[in-house]
Amino acid sequence: MSRTKKRNRSTQSSKRRSTRRAHSESRSHGSHRGTLRLGVVIAILVGINLYVFLWRGETSIPAVMEKASVAGNGNGALVDSHEQERLAQAQRGVSNTLGTGTPVQSATRAVSGEVASGDSMGRILRREGMDAKAADELIRALSPSLDLSKIRPGQTFTLRFDAGGVLQEFEFHVSKVRRVRATRGADGKLVAEQLDASTELREESLGGQIEGSLYRSLQRAGEDTDLVSFFVDVFAYDLNFYVDTHPNDAYRMIVEKEYLDGEFIGYGRVLAAEYSGKSGTHRAFWWQQPGSKVGKYFGESGQSVEKTFLKTPLKFARVSSGFNPKRMHPVLHVEKGHWGTDYAAPPGTPIWSAAPGRITFRGRRGGAGNCVIVKHENNLQTIYMHMKGFKKGQKVGSRVRAKDVIGYVGSTGLATGPHLHFGVKKNGHYIDPQKMKMTRGAGVAKKHMSRFREDTRKLVAALAEIPAEAAIRNPFVVEL
Ligand SMILES: [Zn+2]
Repeated sequence: MSRTKKRNRSTQSSKRRSTRRAHSESRSHGSHRGTLRLGVVIAILVGINLYVFLWRGETSIPAVMEKASVAGNGNGALVDSHEQERLAQAQRGVSNTLGTGTPVQSATRAVSGEVASGDSMGRILRREGMDAKAADELIRALSPSLDLSKIRPGQTFTLRFDAGGVLQEFEFHVSKVRRVRATRGADGKLVAEQLDASTELREESLGGQIEGSLYRSLQRAGEDTDLVSFFVDVFAYDLNFYVDTHPNDAYRMIVEKEYLDGEFIGYGRVLAAEYSGKSGTHRAFWWQQPGSKVGKYFGESGQSVEKTFLKTPLKFARVSSGFNPKRMHPVLHVEKGHWGTDYAAPPGTPIWSAAPGRITFRGRRGGAGNCVIVKHENNLQTIYMHMKGFKKGQKVGSRVRAKDVIGYVGSTGLATGPHLHFGVKKNGHYIDPQKMKMTRGAGVAKKHMSRFREDTRKLVAALAEIPAEAAIRNPFVVEL
């Protein structure tokens, strides 16, 4: 079975085809290769903010894919042959297209530049010498195809003018995969279009074994933790990765990796994942229920693994102090119950809302420091203390979803160091968040179960073929 699919998101025709058998590859290279591969994967991830739905709460696959492509953004232009040819044509008659913002006087003129910190499109165009009217015309043309509020430093663009100084073409590189180009047509109007390079989506398998030693804080090491996050998330019902991982536990996964001209640019979906250890073997599958617009993760028996209440409102942290009604207060040194869970985490670590709800308090509150309170269904409230700061754009009354960032770990108020104090109130009384039962979302509908079983059977078989003998440092535990 070929495990490679072509993803053609292009408005241009795609010429490249390739196939690859991810499993035969991993089989033939054995376990050592598995270790190497994981290392390579992690290294590639440096600087790439991927699998962001965990981190930023954007759960849709298009959002993830877009993030993936955006994350891979560099300064380089696309290099597909189509484009090279087109560029060559465009540059005929252009005396020089140069360095950033260096216009060249000639019959036609092209200027390339880069978005700088604090830039708006208006500012960029002004800087490149366009008057307000011309800039306005371009901005209007671009708006349907490009979200101008989301341009970021480092993105590049090229402006091409005719001899009369009238803009003929504007091209903006959103990411390695996406460009937006506005061209002046024969009718004199500027029209913008999105041009997406065709990327190749390969399904690849990864496997490894947990060695048990602590892994240095992945964040501190500048390593990306997206795949790890996925595991932590998708198995959250069955496993607590802060305590339940043991030496010799094994993990296996089949994941989509997106390539542009052979270069890895980001992860797509994790299609299947397995974690086996002392606590048994757990599997999760991405599956799109017939009639459903989005795919979700389900356990092997069709149960949902989507949580409606997170036990841990942080991606990575370590419990530094549990719920204890008789604890001595570390700062006040008096017996003062500890009505929640403390998570030690680096300052600035994003804090998630543990469940969907509405913000009922957001501000400074004595010893709690910067504090957010979110009200949820079933008379539940969650309280987050000692924050360094709040998420921009939210206020009292704002609705949040589970995993929406609401603030950042800090040490404001009475705190001995950066940590999140996470409290949960049920009917107005504090309860132990660690002992809360999580409720599951809806599972696969009965009428679709046979189809689900059929679809996942192949994935189970594919997972079984992934070698996972190689020992790796435990990526699921973060040493702070
Ligand atoms: Zn606390």
